[in-house]
Amino acid sequence: MKNSTKKITIAIDGPAASGKSTTARRVAQKLGYLYIDSGAMYRAVTLLALRKGIDVHDAAAVARIAREADIRFRSDGAPGQTVIYLNGEEVSREIRTPDIDRNISPVAANPQVREILVRKQQELGRHGGVVMDGRDIGTVVFPQAELKVFMQASAEERARRRQKELAQKGIEVPLEQILQEIRRRDWEDMNRTHGPLKKAPDALELDTTHLTIEEQVEQIVKWARERIDP
Ligand code: C5P
Repeated sequence: MKNSTKKITIAIDGPAASGKSTTARRVAQKLGYLYIDSGAMYRAVTLLALRKGIDVHDAAAVARIAREADIRFRSDGAPGQTVIYLNGEEVSREIRTPDIDRNISPVAANPQVREILVRKQQELGRHGGVVMDGRDIGTVVFPQAELKVFMQASAEERARRRQKELAQKGIEVPLEQILQEIRRRDWEDMNRTHGPLKKAPDALELDTTHLTIEEQVEQIVKWARERIDP
């Protein structure tokens, strides 16, 4: 029997600046699903630590603020248009700065922080009808997701995209510096013990180096529809 209202879970993983967030948001819009940017949650905890003057290497102190932080996503009307709130304040811009990029790795490697945030992510996606992007969504957060996508792109292409994104916000950073930062973050993400960046064995690979955002979105929506209404 056809069940066109079936709501699936879509997990999108991949390295830094592989275009996951933009793609995942648009996929959610097209399907009328909720979009959750799991990286934004690690960024929000990092922002809170920096604001409170907490050393990001102080695992116990960072875990404490992660536990106490009120992190929410609010959908401003249209599906996919979720914005992040930290303790009642909208922080979408504040969490996406080079300063956060530089300080986030110890926060993301902190096992207690991961446990707290993974639980929140599972709670947010428990009814299905969700597109979540990150590093460990298909492997740890939703190992049962009906659709898992692993996005890839060369480090050079990802650096160019990140530079453009920052420039649009008035932040000018040399390409070489961004490339180094991306390579460092790739290494940190792949080599941590808890929730490392890894392709789930059953994830579909999408190399976006030569694809436009629209092409990436179309491909994932096609895969999703094949699973919603086989
Ligand atoms: O995706 P984004 O670049 O915003 O993620 C920021 C950082 O948060 C990543 O470098 C990664 O270390 C961490 N992260 C994570 N697990 C996730 C999502 C992001 O460790 N599920």
